Amino acid sequence: MEQTFIMIKPDGVERGLIGEIVARFERKGLRLTSAQLMQISNETAELHYGHLKNKPFFGELVDYITSGQVFAMIWEGDEAIKNARALIGATNPVEALPGSIRGDMALNVASNIIHGSDSTESVSREIALFFGKERVA
Ligand code: ATP
Ligand code: MG
Repeated sequence: MEQTFIMIKPDGVERGLIGEIVARFERKGLRLTSAQLMQISNETAELHYGHLKNKPFFGELVDYITSGQVFAMIWEGDEAIKNARALIGATNPVEALPGSIRGDMALNVASNIIHGSDSTESVSREIALFFGKERVA
């Protein structure tokens, strides 16, 4: 059994897509173990996207992710990290296949509506950051 951290970004929350996205994860067979609607601080955003600090779009990314409430979740199941990223689709919605969340619901990389952890290390780091160290499995 594996855990993953998933976050619906402010545009996804604002557009009323929480229900449809959660339904897709449930239908896949993953299990929701924690969820919280929250406003993240600039500091949390900069830590979460620390690996992108040198990218030209970093400032824009921090502004985007702090522009409204996010819906942070922990999901668990077999191969949860890879299964969740397959449901989410490619980073750039232009390349994400129809049938994936970004392929069906987003238009551009600067507002791609959802985040999913990409490794066991990022799951631990991101769950600690958003839900506290005690929730890391
Ligand atoms: P996420 O980490 O959000 O799940 P990802 O793992 O598919 O996405 P990363 O390379 O980690 O992709 O990029 C993190 C986020 O940075 C992207 O989801 C997107 O919001 C933003 N981003 C990436 N590339 C660009 C770009 N060229 N212009 C604007 N924003 C970008
Ligand atoms: Mg990423």
